[in-house]
Amino acid sequence: MIRIAIAGGAGRMGTALVKVAHQAKDVKLVGAIDHPASNKISNDIGEMAGLGKIGIPMTGSIEELLGTFDTLIDFSTPEATATNAAICAHRGLTMVVGTTGLVKEQLEAVRSAAHYTPICMASNFSTGVNLCFKLASITAKVLGDEVDIEISEAHHRDKVDSPSGTALALGASVTNALNRNLDDVAIYRRAGLIGERPKKAIGFSSIRAGDIVGDHTILFAGDGELVEITHRASNRLAFARGAVRAAIWLNQKSAGLYDMQDVLGLS
Ligand code: NAD
Repeated sequence: MIRIAIAGGAGRMGTALVKVAHQAKDVKLVGAIDHPASNKISNDIGEMAGLGKIGIPMTGSIEELLGTFDTLIDFSTPEATATNAAICAHRGLTMVVGTTGLVKEQLEAVRSAAHYTPICMASNFSTGVNLCFKLASITAKVLGDEVDIEISEAHHRDKVDSPSGTALALGASVTNALNRNLDDVAIYRRAGLIGERPKKAIGFSSIRAGDIVGDHTILFAGDGELVEITHRASNRLAFARGAVRAAIWLNQKSAGLYDMQDVLGLS
């Protein structure tokens, strides 16, 4: 039985993860960690997730849980994730990383940790979105330079990064398929007299409103026809189920950095 701890345990994803991990067959939920200043520290994590009391209090530091878990599922903040990656690497603990918005140095911390321990990192752990990555890559290969590609996403008002990690990953799946470099072709902002659309550009647009869990659309617009691939998440359980599935899959792997495409056999 794989023993799981959850970082970011009091958050929106954290509570969904507590629910799924506590109810899953092949894993045992042993703890959850949130920011030490959180007013949720010491609260029963089952009660917070709507499960009723399960006798596991929220802790304020990963150190308190070392020795009790095999895998950390981390959906917290970029700073916390980078620190946790170094701790997990040192102890050989496997890690599932869902946190998005990591800057270069924080990503490097996760990549370095993966030299010592298996880590699965994905901007989106839902099965449907990962299927969309594959479909986007196939569509880009078939339609190629004939079409203009635009990516749009919508999320709840509290999301702090933009464009979403999933939108960027969709962008990467088409630029990889088309041998383009995302940094060279991405357009994140349009205002004023912007001129003609560069042929190979990939435009991103973001909506932040209400409690939208996560919508993504990639558009391939040609002359006379248009292909659109859309995914809509209606609650967070799909991400949480994917993350727990990744934790189980990682258990048989050697050190390295994996993603959800690997877990689903789509890579
Ligand atoms: P949230 O703000 O509701 O939750 C984040 C939690 O992390 C908060 O409870 C916060 O107190 C806690 N936290 C802050 N510092 C911490 C620390 N040092 N140690 C432990 N916990 C700490 O956010 P959310 O909506 O749950 O999203 C969390 C992250 O997951 C974001 O980066 C989001 O973009 C990402 N996300 C990823 C996926 C995916 O499938 N990969 C899906 C949804 C959200």
